[in-house]
Amino acid sequence: MTMTASPETLNRLALLDRDGTINVDHNYVHTRDQFDVIPGAVEAIKRLHGLGFSVVVVTNQSGVQRGKYTVEQMHDVHDYLQDILQEHDSRIDAFYYSTAMPGSPDIRRKPMPGMALEAARDFNADLGRSVVIGDKTSDIGLARNVGARSILVRTGHGRETEIGGGAGETAIADDLTGAVEVIEQWLREGW
Ligand SMILES: [Mg+2]
Repeated sequence: MTMTASPETLNRLALLDRDGTINVDHNYVHTRDQFDVIPGAVEAIKRLHGLGFSVVVVTNQSGVQRGKYTVEQMHDVHDYLQDILQEHDSRIDAFYYSTAMPGSPDIRRKPMPGMALEAARDFNADLGRSVVIGDKTSDIGLARNVGARSILVRTGHGRETEIGGGAGETAIADDLTGAVEVIEQWLREGW
C-alpha cells in the first residue's frame, strides 16, 4: 500500500509570535520577572489546540547577538511560559527562535521563511492551512512568504503596525483571544 500525504492528513500549525503577542513587549524580555502574559493568552493557546492546531512559537531574538541576554536566559523564559501553560493543561508544542540581527541575510529571521519551514517539516504540517499570529510587519510577512494566513494582533506593536500601513493583506484582531475567534470563523466557512 502506498501512503500519500493528502492535505487532510497533514497537520495545521498556529505559529505564534512571542513578545507583544503572548507576553507584554517590555523590550528584550529575558527574565521571568519581565514575562507578563497578556490577559487571555493562556486560554487562547488552549483553544487553538482544541481547534486542532499544533501551537509553536516563532520568535526573533536578536537580543542574544546584541549581547543583551544569553540563549540560556531565553530558554529559561520559555520554560517559564511552559510552566504557566502546564498549570492550565496547555503547552507550546515547540519554540523556534532566530538570534540573527536585523538586516542580516539569515533565512530564519522573520519575515524570512526558515523557522516556519522547519516547523512544517517537524510537524508534518501544511502551511497553506496554517496561520501566523503576531504584532509586527515581519509576522505578516512571514505568513505571506510561506503561503499561510495571518492575523495581526493589536497588542504589542500591533496598533503601530496597523496605523503605519505595515499590515498589508491580513486579518486583524484585538488580541490573541480575538485571533482565535477569527480562526473559528474561518473554520466555520470551511477553511
Ligand atoms: Mg512581537
